[in-house]
Amino acid sequence: MSALDDLPPLRDVIRRHDLSARKSLGQNFLLDLNLTARIARASGPLEGVDVIEVGPGPGGLTRALLALGAARVVAIEKDTRAIAALSEVAAHYPGRLNVIEGDALDTDFSSLLSGGPVRIVANLPYNVGTALLVGWLTSETWPPYWQSLTLLFQREVAERIVAAPGSDAYGRLGVLAGWRTDAKIMFDVAPSAFVPPPKVTSSLVHLVPRANPEPCTSRTLEAVTQAAFGQRRKMLRQSLKGIFRDPVAALESVGIEPTRRAEEVDVPGFAALARALAAERA
Ligand code: SAM
Repeated sequence: MSALDDLPPLRDVIRRHDLSARKSLGQNFLLDLNLTARIARASGPLEGVDVIEVGPGPGGLTRALLALGAARVVAIEKDTRAIAALSEVAAHYPGRLNVIEGDALDTDFSSLLSGGPVRIVANLPYNVGTALLVGWLTSETWPPYWQSLTLLFQREVAERIVAAPGSDAYGRLGVLAGWRTDAKIMFDVAPSAFVPPPKVTSSLVHLVPRANPEPCTSRTLEAVTQAAFGQRRKMLRQSLKGIFRDPVAALESVGIEPTRRAEEVDVPGFAALARALAAERA
């Protein structure tokens, strides 16, 4: 039994259900329930909250979310082997855990919820983590249906998410995250905390939606940042040639010197360029 709940230790669960980790599914499991409880707590108060978890695996984080009072956890898992292990957790918390076998990349999360407050919490598979985050950050409706995202990434990806202008890590992901959310790194998790241990340190990132992000569409913002950071060492008057008819005029119209480079432009600057692009395309 563990200190968190009356369920068996995760090592037993993994052995009984033959859940040896598969690299192709980005499986690096967390077996320390104190650590999973720390991650669950970092997501904010859970009482009365529905949580979406991507990739519950053997259920270490799922158990922490439920033990700490989440009203309901909806967990999407691609690995069939984990479903039986998770049914034991569901039986322990009647009516509070809904496990969906499927691919999170193809799941319409908003349709799974009951209408109350929602947090998204996950130790993400490294191979789909960024795609999922970009999906959550670019939804048409804003503010979104979720109150926060609390996600474990490789440290290098976490640094790109929270990066400020002027830093080497600042790029498309930092602009997107900074546009619509306040994002911060909560703490690092050493490779030794995972089974099997990954090569690099991980970091927990917490993102809270901004109520009033700079007005622009994610489509035009992405077009501008893709062009600008695609050639990040070039001046913007050069790197934006592929998307603006007259990049110098577009840059001057929004008060950005055409000789600037992408990493020197802040989020309001990129949003202004996105609006200029939308106007040109209208
Ligand atoms: N939450 C568990 C933990 O912390 O120990 C497992 C985390 S492990 C890094 C990632 C999990 O995501 C694995 O259980 C894996 O099977 C699952 N997974 C991988 N790709 C997925 C996808 N596209 N959709 C849903 N789950 C996926």
